[in-house]
Amino acid sequence: MTDPSLDAETLRLDRAHVFHSWSAQAGLNPLVIAGGAGCRLWDFSGREYLDFSSQLVNTNIGHQHPVVVAAIKEQADVLTTIAPATANLTRGRAAEAVLRHAPAGFSKVFFTNAGADAIENAIRMARQHTGRDKVISRYRSYHGNTGAAVVATGDWRRLANEYARGHVHVFGPYLYRSEFWATTAEEECERALHHLERVVQCEGPDDVAAILLESIPGTAGVIVPPPGYLAGVREIADRYEIVLILDEVMAGFGRTGDWFAHTVDGVVPDLITFAKGVNSGYVPAGGVIISDPIAATFDERVFPGGLTYSGHPLAMAAIVATIGAMEDEGIVENAAAIGHDVLGPGLVEITERHAVVGEARGRGVFWALELVADAETREPLPAAAMGALKKGLLDRGLVPFIADNRLHVVPPCIITPEETRHGLAIIDDALGSLA
Ligand code: PLP
Repeated sequence: MTDPSLDAETLRLDRAHVFHSWSAQAGLNPLVIAGGAGCRLWDFSGREYLDFSSQLVNTNIGHQHPVVVAAIKEQADVLTTIAPATANLTRGRAAEAVLRHAPAGFSKVFFTNAGADAIENAIRMARQHTGRDKVISRYRSYHGNTGAAVVATGDWRRLANEYARGHVHVFGPYLYRSEFWATTAEEECERALHHLERVVQCEGPDDVAAILLESIPGTAGVIVPPPGYLAGVREIADRYEIVLILDEVMAGFGRTGDWFAHTVDGVVPDLITFAKGVNSGYVPAGGVIISDPIAATFDERVFPGGLTYSGHPLAMAAIVATIGAMEDEGIVENAAAIGHDVLGPGLVEITERHAVVGEARGRGVFWALELVADAETREPLPAAAMGALKKGLLDRGLVPFIADNRLHVVPPCIITPEETRHGLAIIDDALGSLA
């Protein structure tokens, strides 16, 4: 259905009444989206876009996957909602589907409404399990907008929200902008681990409940850890009996070409948080995958947490169908192959062609281009130029994900080689016209 008047009406209603996240409201001019399918989106005038953002990096299965849409409708006909204290068949099947892809030694899932409250509850479990209070997380991280999750966060969004207590931050490895004067990945890894262990010691190991890390920091720049870093963190956590929470909210469920990003590092955490890709956000959901020893803590002791919509049937039906479709259609394998054969090489080529691209890094369909005003000093490209890039991409029909001085290249995991090459050509062209 095309009806250009609805574009204007959508924008009018939005600007009159909708209050947006993380923004000064007055200058906003949001993109109008009327519908979508697969990797495509369109407005009411019929103007089409290629989605290279997966929205907020959540539509791993693409837009309107018919199997998932049908499962939500089917569940709506049976039972739209039911209290979390009941036993529900779809909820049990969703937990089983999530656990099919978890490491050995995990047999329970606590469902939440989204990623931030998954983090809240993982922190709560770690504190209850250890009887300790402090949580160490990383600068350059994002863990969600609620009480403890936003204070665990390591970007500007924490600063206005520091009401939770017991949070300590460390620098993680990030060779392109090393805090450790490192010149190799090995040096960066070794020094970041030394720094983390010293912070644990100085904070009092007996007070530290958890180390909370994104397996690959996502919004902070797709900062893939060097080989050995996560294994080194696991060793430090073990040495001081600290719970290791890996946040897979953005990196999990296919994004990196694996079901979970941390598996390639050969580590097993104690708690895994997830949301986004678990059902591509078709109905909001998240959760905590709980290792058996931590689950056992609450066998005889009350878990002091809960949510009205924990394990909401519509979200659970979407999880069962999403994971089933990802398995049946080889969607995780597709993300790996696209990253390896098309997207990764294409972005490396773009980096070589444009001086404004300082570095391309990533895995699967989880990449970022770091844009710089000066290749030598690595001074970030200023906001005005990033704004011009965003406009250039939208004008050429591509929806981008832009954070600070970075273009994150994060299409759905179902993207085809042709669509990938089309998106890369748009990025190449838009970067060319920036100069
Ligand atoms: N953790 C990570 C790594 C995220 O990227 C996000 C959101 O972007 C969250 C947690 C918070 O998730 P939500 O916005 O669903 O609460």
